[in-house]
Amino acid sequence: MAGAFGFKGCQKIRGPQIRKLLEAKDFILFDCDGVIWHGETAITGAAKVVSSLIRHGKNVVFVTNNCTRPRENYVHKFYRLGFTDVMLEQIFSSSYCSALYLRDVVKVRGQVFVMGCDGMRRELEEAGISCVEEADEPGATIYDCALAPDVKAVLVGHDDKLTFLKLAKASCYLRDPDCLFLATDNDPWHPLSGGRILPGSGSLTAALEVSSGRKATVIGKPSRFMFECISSQFRGVDPAQCLMIGDRLEVDMLFGSNCGFDTMLTLTGVSQLEEAQEYKDSELTDKHRLVPDYVVDSIADFLSAFEEQEDQEEQSN
Ligand SMILES: [Mg+2]
Repeated sequence: MAGAFGFKGCQKIRGPQIRKLLEAKDFILFDCDGVIWHGETAITGAAKVVSSLIRHGKNVVFVTNNCTRPRENYVHKFYRLGFTDVMLEQIFSSSYCSALYLRDVVKVRGQVFVMGCDGMRRELEEAGISCVEEADEPGATIYDCALAPDVKAVLVGHDDKLTFLKLAKASCYLRDPDCLFLATDNDPWHPLSGGRILPGSGSLTAALEVSSGRKATVIGKPSRFMFECISSQFRGVDPAQCLMIGDRLEVDMLFGSNCGFDTMLTLTGVSQLEEAQEYKDSELTDKHRLVPDYVVDSIADFLSAFEEQEDQEEQSN
């Protein structure tokens, strides 16, 4: 881990230290759930933090493994939750990046079978990628259902309408070694209120990896590919100028490490400080990549840093 400021390495930072850190960074990358909102509720102060960063000339982007909605719907959600100055171009979701991968990297010819939700299908179609139509086949089984002849990729993501038939079809398509196997992300689960959880795309990918005997290429965090999508759209992004802020050590902090960013854990989501410290103390050096450089209780802690900066600016005027 690089260390520009002496207080790095799973260190809780506050007002003046946050200000110094933000002054040194041009690009602020935010995870969404657990960082700026919980489902349909914005984290207190988050909208103000985002607009202050934009007002101070920072490039702000949102990097989310949530593949369930097209970017357009994200813009509406941002607006609805009070983030009124967020534009489409700032949003990088795992389904959008999957569409870019299929279109621009592997230049897929033929159809894509989506083991996922409508939002993923819509994002792919928006990029001009044709998806196997979800046929309504009452009573069909894997013994007698139709299989599309030209499936060149299977993409797995969040699928709350997963059926055994869909899993079986995807497994059959993957018998063809030329058919690509992609996953939007590998998140194992997501927290819900009341201690309940939602199985993540990673759990569906695991099922398909077992039945196909193949390993999926993961597009979302912690894979570096999402950063490649960002740098293809924002010229001159320097990893040394980037700060990744997230709530999940195994996803967000590892993504930041993989891309060479400074990382910040916020304690409003999944991972807790004790887990980060355990990774820090681990004898397995691989685990050190999951340790955040900085820790804050909430991104609302940024507000006092801005206030100080604004006070200083006023005094110098
Ligand atoms: Mg999160």
